[in-house]
Amino acid sequence: MPEAPVVLHAQGVSRRYAKGVMALSPVDLTVREGEFVTLLGPSGCGKTTLLRLMSGLDVPTTGTLTRAVDEDDLSYVFQDATLMPWASVRTNVRLPVDLTRGSGKRSAADAAQAVATALERVGLSDFADAFPRELSGGMRMRVSIARALVTAPRLLLMDEPFGALDDITRQHLDDELLALARKHRLTVVFVTHNVFEAVYLSTRVVVMSARPGRIVEDVNNDAPMRDAAFRGSPDFAMRAARLQAALLKGQQPGGQQPGALSAAGIGDTQP
Ligand code: ADP
Ligand code: MG
Repeated sequence: MPEAPVVLHAQGVSRRYAKGVMALSPVDLTVREGEFVTLLGPSGCGKTTLLRLMSGLDVPTTGTLTRAVDEDDLSYVFQDATLMPWASVRTNVRLPVDLTRGSGKRSAADAAQAVATALERVGLSDFADAFPRELSGGMRMRVSIARALVTAPRLLLMDEPFGALDDITRQHLDDELLALARKHRLTVVFVTHNVFEAVYLSTRVVVMSARPGRIVEDVNNDAPMRDAAFRGSPDFAMRAARLQAALLKGQQPGGQQPGALSAAGIGDTQP
């Protein structure tokens, strides 16, 4: 099978903030169409920094970042739902359509249809007229995802979107996200510090070290079925343990340097 087209390519990308804070060591990373890549690392390691660079919200201090989709074709989901409290769910979800630049505005009927479709995708069709304060945390996050989907993006960048939710709600949303990503063949870059969420969602996990973040390990995470049985399986536990070990290695000063580890799959047997 030929390799899927490259969507994102980072080469030697680093970021130093004002006052000299080195947030991200030079990173090389390629993301291909249809991949679900998770950036996994401890708090403060530069995950948000890297995601913002990928989105074009920020520019690298060194290196080059190329993106094969333009900005109308990508959506960014922030850690908090960041909804407008004074506006209905419908208006919140329509925001990116109203803001979309490019050739000509969509008609009102078009926009309404796009909003209805996005709400249906996240199971909130009945809540179009509700206000954010009337919704649970999980529902607000679903509104935020509907808002990201309303422009039918090809690339979804998500910064710890479910971090503030309880486990059960998070697991539901993980399932919904996976179904959406598959159905629409989305390319997703997802940030989390949760190894279990990383194992459950990703086709690939990029493990980052403590600040200044660098890539400690790039782990293939192809797995058969993402369902309750997978979550409870020894295979799942093994994958999580391997990621946990990589995270710990990345905490140690002078730990493994990038490139020293192969991108072997978790289940691969070592000679
Ligand atoms: P993560 O998302 O992994 O928690 P961040 O990318 O937010 O990490 O931050 C990486 C490091 O850069 C942290 O030490 C953080 O304090 C610092 N940092 C983030 N944004 C800025 C900024 N705008 N100015 C200065 N330092 C920043
Ligand atoms: Mg962050």
